[in-house]
Amino acid sequence: MSLKRHPMNTFLNPATAAALSRALLTWFAASRRDLPWRGDYDPYQVFVSEIMLQQTQMDRVVPFFNRFLARFPDVHSLAQAPEEAVLKAWEGLGYYLRARNLRQAARLVAEDHAGVFPADPEGLAALPGVGPYTAGAVASIAYNRPVPAVDANVERTLARVLDLDAPVKSPRTRALIRQAVLALMPTSPEQGAPRDLTQALMELGALVCLPRNPRCADCPLASWCRALAAGTVALRPLPAPPKEVVRINMATGVLAHAGRLYIQKRRDNDVWPGLWEFPGGVMEKGETAEEALRREYLEETETPVVPVSPITTVKYSYTKYRVTMYGFYCRAEDGNSVRPKLNEATAGAFVRPEELTDYAFPAGHRRLIAFMLDDPRLKTVLAGGARPESG
Ligand code: SF4
Repeated sequence: MSLKRHPMNTFLNPATAAALSRALLTWFAASRRDLPWRGDYDPYQVFVSEIMLQQTQMDRVVPFFNRFLARFPDVHSLAQAPEEAVLKAWEGLGYYLRARNLRQAARLVAEDHAGVFPADPEGLAALPGVGPYTAGAVASIAYNRPVPAVDANVERTLARVLDLDAPVKSPRTRALIRQAVLALMPTSPEQGAPRDLTQALMELGALVCLPRNPRCADCPLASWCRALAAGTVALRPLPAPPKEVVRINMATGVLAHAGRLYIQKRRDNDVWPGLWEFPGGVMEKGETAEEALRREYLEETETPVVPVSPITTVKYSYTKYRVTMYGFYCRAEDGNSVRPKLNEATAGAFVRPEELTDYAFPAGHRRLIAFMLDDPRLKTVLAGGARPESG
């Protein structure tokens, strides 16, 4: 089945959309979970629940939510709380930026909105930590607005009902799913409440249209589900094409001199601007790690070095890159004249090993440092040479 052969307007004609909507709302009335914020849909409670649910599963959120609400029962108590107290109440949920943003949002609502959360998605999206999904969910669930809120559950369910054969994260598929949600929204109180439709779609994805082994026999949408009819349920939603991955090998030198190690600060236009590092770089074709290290060190610092012994190999990723980094202890070829130049850095320093943790390094270098600080060979490596001259 393709998007072309089954355009949305054919599938979701008003009568079909109304029938689907009725089936969903009837199912939700009978099957909805009893969640603490589903009482009077207080906007503060709905907001807190949606922030917690951003990166945490529902069954873990419920006990945290209850404890959080006991500690901060309304927006004013949260707005006035010290950040430390909010972080403490968040302990165990992880992703602490959510807690900081939540407190900041409460302060803005208390100060700029007289303690009342905005009802429109635009006003909600202006609060810290709120993206289009959370704004739509709060507007719909708390304020009963007919606004789409498309989470992974809704995406999966509708990609199957509509048998969408384009990647579910593509702009076109996203737009089709939002259109479908809007077409399903009740348009009069007799038809039902928008907040129930929003929650019904999420709940159906969470309880019935599961990622693996969906419970189609129990599904209220089964008689309209195109993927079920076509035998393509296991193929929907279509994942995004795999991202390009680039593998690179790097050599990095930890120059030991007079009891200290040399580090340099990355330039502002580099990846990880302003962080510190040990000099080194990408290995060229046909080069050994030791050859690359000597070449890179010379290019970056004009200091000839000799690799003394391998430290360890660290693997890490950033964006599309999968990096294998070979770390080496090294010494300067001329131990009496160690003055690294700053050809590719804005500052350089010789530091004692225990001082390394005072500086900010990229993840790969942090792991190299953690290894070195536990490495009994480090003492021996540090033992030789004269005191470094300033760079
Ligand atoms: S019939 Fe099956 S695949 Fe289709 S929406 Fe229901 S649970 Fe999902």
